[in-house]
Amino acid sequence: MRYLRVALAGLLALSGHVLFAQHCGTVEYIKHLDEKYPGLMKHVDDMYLQSIQETEQKSLYKLAPHDTLFTVDVVFHVVYLQNNQNIPDSLILDQLAVLNEAFNRLNADTVNTRDIFKPVAGNARIKFRFANVDPDGNPTNGITRTQSNRSTFNTNNNATTTDYVKQSAEGGHDAWDTKKYLNIWICNLNLQNGQRALFGYAYPPVGATFWSSTYYKSDPFQGVVLHYETIGRNNPSFLSDQLYTNEKTAIHEVGHYFGLRHVWGDANWGQNGCLVDDYIFDTPNTYTRASGCDKSLNTCSTDNLPDQVENYMDYSSAVCSNMFTQRQVDVMRYNMVNLRSELPSSEYVGPVRTVAEGNYLFPNPVADHWSVAFDDPINEEVTVELYDMLGRMVYQAQVVANNYTAELPVAGVSIGMYRAIVTSAEHGVIVDTNILKAQ
Ligand SMILES: [Zn+2]
Repeated sequence: MRYLRVALAGLLALSGHVLFAQHCGTVEYIKHLDEKYPGLMKHVDDMYLQSIQETEQKSLYKLAPHDTLFTVDVVFHVVYLQNNQNIPDSLILDQLAVLNEAFNRLNADTVNTRDIFKPVAGNARIKFRFANVDPDGNPTNGITRTQSNRSTFNTNNNATTTDYVKQSAEGGHDAWDTKKYLNIWICNLNLQNGQRALFGYAYPPVGATFWSSTYYKSDPFQGVVLHYETIGRNNPSFLSDQLYTNEKTAIHEVGHYFGLRHVWGDANWGQNGCLVDDYIFDTPNTYTRASGCDKSLNTCSTDNLPDQVENYMDYSSAVCSNMFTQRQVDVMRYNMVNLRSELPSSEYVGPVRTVAEGNYLFPNPVADHWSVAFDDPINEEVTVELYDMLGRMVYQAQVVANNYTAELPVAGVSIGMYRAIVTSAEHGVIVDTNILKAQ
């Protein structure tokens, strides 16, 4: 299986098939540099691994509480040569709706998330709205339109020319303050011969732990670039949802923009992809990128889980992808708070609900012991961890669950508000909620 997939990937790469290369140039750009500067990619991977280990040690991504809704102002810059590239507002409106559904787990196709992954599906609680004031203080509808003399911004599949779309002097449109707005440029990313090659790309936040500094770009280049044929579910280009990522490309690229990596970890040609991870606990190890929607894939025997082709950070088609995981949400929210802190307005919306409806901790507030109630029987050891409001773990215990409940002694814990996370080896996160220790 493993060798078959390597051979297949090589074949597709050589033929330049659109299914292989269509999607996202975020990592390909670095690989392009690697051809010019041999060894760069290994350096990037080494840095990546080192930074991940540091992250794990510090448990960084448990530090951003989940009890707020972030709202982000978005500006779309439409840059076009031909009229069909000057896509109508209706497509952009629909694209914004797609983003809002995905980042609040309100998308209708959550029902297609396989049961094995439902317990780890995450709600990012990020809302996107059209900017209504431009950087000069004038009213705006959040969409700019620029006629360009460039027929495409993808002349040779690298980010130097595609980034021209972010520069007025190069036929594009300068970014609005990238600390205050999410800039999304929409343009033609087909090759000059009209072949589809790239659907979008984005740079991670500067300082993002899951990326080496090789990926960092200065403020005027921060944001997301999308190919005009991917925008909106009602796009007249009618690219097959069975084959292409279409309107879900934007979700994937905004995921990069908040610091997520591809689920397969971007293994290089010749590397064993099962040894290269994205270091997100709840995305199973995956040999390489998926395409289409093959739910039979289980490309790495290092775990007992199938490949999570439902994940937005894979290359699965639009009919397939429908979820972020909770750890991916942790990373995005951590990066929002720490690396894109001026971007959102924050609104307290209360504790995160329990992971599976029916799992909960009681009583709340508590005196000396909690009980965890499970919707389905659990008979294994569960771990409970309590974090204070600064994100420090202040309590950890293991107890064996008995069918529908587990009893947790917490008499020694100080009075205060805590985030409680209950996990087990088999079920992953069972409860993630805020609780009050009253006496
Ligand atoms: Zn990508």
